[in-house]
Amino acid sequence: MSRGRGFSIKILDKSDDSISILFKNIPVEIINSIRRISMSEVPTLAIDKVFIFRNDSVLNDQMLAHRLGLIPLKTPVDKYKYGDEEGKPEYVSLSLTIEAKNDFRTVYAKDIKSNDKEVYPLYEDIEIVRLAPGEGLDIEMWAIMGTGREHAKWSPVTVCVVRGVPVIKILKECDSNCKKCVEACPKNILKINNGKLTVTNLYLCTGCKLCEVECPDYIKVDIDEKSSLFMMEIVGQLTIKTILTKSFDILISKIDDFLTKFNEVEIYEDAIPK
Ligand code: SF4
Ligand code: SF4
Repeated sequence: MSRGRGFSIKILDKSDDSISILFKNIPVEIINSIRRISMSEVPTLAIDKVFIFRNDSVLNDQMLAHRLGLIPLKTPVDKYKYGDEEGKPEYVSLSLTIEAKNDFRTVYAKDIKSNDKEVYPLYEDIEIVRLAPGEGLDIEMWAIMGTGREHAKWSPVTVCVVRGVPVIKILKECDSNCKKCVEACPKNILKINNGKLTVTNLYLCTGCKLCEVECPDYIKVDIDEKSSLFMMEIVGQLTIKTILTKSFDILISKIDDFLTKFNEVEIYEDAIPK
């Protein structure tokens, strides 16, 4: 857990491709900005230019190019040019040259060759097309940096959700064993232990209030939007740490830009209503 002035950040759950974080006393509006930036403004590499010299497959050139564009590529951090950055290469060159000799041959993402060993298809077993005997492909591709705002193929995030933190109040001691609230909960997080109602995992609560509807005299459910629950699943081009760090950097630079522009605004005294 990390703490700041009046706020704290706690990782509730983490794996290589997903994370859940509790931002205590950081409101949903701010963390929602991070959600939006992470999905649509953190640049990654994706195939964007496709030069097809041979395509005997059943897929037409457009379908093939579209399919290749959607293959996620491992993206080295800050190595390739994005926007008006200077002094970085603009694209990675990749190729796909293959022929089915005497038998049918499925072409996979792992058949793509890259001229940069740090850039490669993340999931080797993505099927691209199936070739019949004698059919072949000869394709060159350029992968360039882009963002999810331009096309979803560049987004490093599959799902990202932000919501307020549920607050479940047990209004009075329950000595009944009717368990109607327990059975009503779709997340199965209410338990009766020794005649006492308890919540086993508050952060799984969706705030649906089905328990409160079942027993309003005993249970009250609210959502605290001054704190945020953040859940993110990633594609894998970048790590979770890189995506979050870059998202916060982008948000801070947007705030700096706003303040700079705001300070340049000339305020005419006469325009201020008395
Ligand atoms: S809180 Fe209400 S619904 Fe739940 S066990 Fe007690 S009396 Fe039954
Ligand atoms: S609000 Fe919904 S999810 Fe939360 S404890 Fe009640 S029934 Fe379960």
